[in-house]
Order: sequence, then structure tokens, then C-alpha cells
Amino acid sequence: MDLTETSPPQLHPAMYQKSEPAECLLCPHNCQLKEGQWGICRTRVNQGGVIQTSAWDNLCSICIDPIEKKPLYHFLPGSRTLSIAIAGCNMRCLNCQNCSISQHPPHELPSYRLSAKDVIKMAVMHKVKNISFTYSEPTVFYEYMLETAKLAHKRGLKTILVSNGYINPEPLEELIPHIDAANIDLKSFDPEMHLKLTGARLEPVLHTLKALKEAGIWLEITHLIVPGYSDNMEVFRKMCRWLVNNGMVYTPLHISRFFPKHKLEETEPTPRRTMEEAYMTAYQCGIQRIYLGNMQSDLLENQSNKTHSKGTE
Ligand code: SF4
Ligand code: SF4
Repeated sequence: MDLTETSPPQLHPAMYQKSEPAECLLCPHNCQLKEGQWGICRTRVNQGGVIQTSAWDNLCSICIDPIEKKPLYHFLPGSRTLSIAIAGCNMRCLNCQNCSISQHPPHELPSYRLSAKDVIKMAVMHKVKNISFTYSEPTVFYEYMLETAKLAHKRGLKTILVSNGYINPEPLEELIPHIDAANIDLKSFDPEMHLKLTGARLEPVLHTLKALKEAGIWLEITHLIVPGYSDNMEVFRKMCRWLVNNGMVYTPLHISRFFPKHKLEETEPTPRRTMEEAYMTAYQCGIQRIYLGNMQSDLLENQSNKTHSKGTE
């Protein structure tokens, strides 16, 4: 499997669009695109009044990971997952850990030319029982993800969505029957701070969480605590209460420690005491499965004594 250069972009018809003026309906940015203009995600362009995607058959990353790395702690624990990504993202997180792939259009990066069928063959060949759409933002390679997920289910493989949750309700509804588990980032519960940190609105992410939960998809949530952005404990408490009030008491909450990256290179790592305060706040609010990520702690060790069993509530 060789890395190949893909420039100029090879285009494929995009789903979820309307014309006159051309508008992409895939995510809540709802980009209206002039002729030749690319969307915020850098994967969709207006060509002749029709929106085309350049995220098709051109993976920037492919790797076999432990499923716990997604992170998913209660879905097929101990299994390996074939993780795939195409470059691009519809958010602009100041702290992005994967900016080298998320903040570039697919045709600017070397890529592996692999069709959805090739991905399934690779999973079968390596005896991997599930496929994860991850690393960048799967919504921006929606068409490829949907095709791969459908083929995966036909072959009896499970599928996993690791996403920022910024997708419109209709495409999400079409995707849901082909997804088995998801880890969704909930980056801040303060709408203004969410916009400042990610360039995207909070409300659609909350809709995605509720829709996945209501559909019976196995759901886990990641919340990164970024000092000065998402470390306000009153806001964090509100978030935990919202989770409890929306049927997510048993939904695993991964509270993750920030390390300097991308546009926040000068920001200090999250203090350990802030992480532990967040853990205790989530616990007091009634969240039943809480994990601290990117750090060692007594609280973490307490959690690791619990069985990471398949999710039941
Ligand atoms: S998927 Fe891309 S082009 Fe479509 S609305 Fe979202 S950011 Fe804009
Ligand atoms: S949503 Fe994820 S991949 Fe996209 S910019 Fe934010 S951290 Fe990076």
C-alpha cells in the first residue's frame, strides 16, 4: 500500500446539497458556495453549480488501534479496530491535536488510494472485527464513511464513529443505522466558549448526542479540559446535569487533560487538581462512569479496577 500524491483534487458527487444558490446541507455551517469556492471543511467545492467532494478513496491515515484508544471503554473491550481517516474538519479547534491532517484539504496531503471495498478486505485480512471513522472529522468524508459502513455491516463487522458531532439531523439519521458505537466530543457547555474554541455552535452537538442515544447507539463522550476555555467548574457542572437529565447517567464520560498544541502552544497543561475537581463534580452530579484521560491519578486507578464490560444500562 503506497502513499500517492492526489493533487489536483479528484471530485465525487456530494450528498446533502441544494442548488441556486449552491448550499451544502451536510453540517450546520450550511456553506453557501460560489462557483469554485470551497467549504469551511476544505473538502467540498461548488463546480458548475453542483457541490462535489474531494474526500473519496483517499485516506490520509489507516492504522490498527486498541478500541480503548478511541476512547471506547465499554464497547467490545480488548478488541482491535481498523481506524481510517480522510483529511479535513468542519471545526477549527484552537487546541487541535490532529491539525496536520484536520486543517488541510485531502488533495494537499499524500494519501492511500483505497476504496471502501479495499478497507473491508483489509479488516478481514487482519482479522479486525470493527472499523473506526476517526482522527480527522468523519462528517467531512460522509459519503465514503456511509459506503464503508454499509459494506462493513454486510460483512458482519461493527462500525465506530469518533466525531465532533457537528452534523445536520438528516444526514445523521441516514448514517445511524450503519453505526454501532460512537465517541462524541463535547468541547464546552458554554455556547460562546464553544464557538470561540472550535468555530462551531454548541446546540447541534447536543442534538447529535441526544439522537445517538435515542437511537440506541452505544455512546461515550469526551470532554477536554482546556485551561481558560473549558475549565469553568460551574459550566462543567451544568454540562453534567444536562447529561443526567438527558438519560446519559451511564454514558461513559472521558474527562481529558489538555497538553499544549496548535494555536494553544503557550497554554499550560490542565492542572491535575482541575482534573480531579472535574471528576468529583461529575461524580456529585450522578454520572456513573467517569474516566480521566491523558494522566495518571488515584481516581483513574480506582476506575481501572472496574470491569470495562460491554455497555449495559
Ligand atoms: S460539510 Fe463542509 S461544505 Fe458542507 S456545510 Fe459543513 S463545512 Fe460547509
Ligand atoms: S474537531 Fe477534532 S479534528 Fe476537528 S479541529 Fe477540533 S480537535 Fe481537530
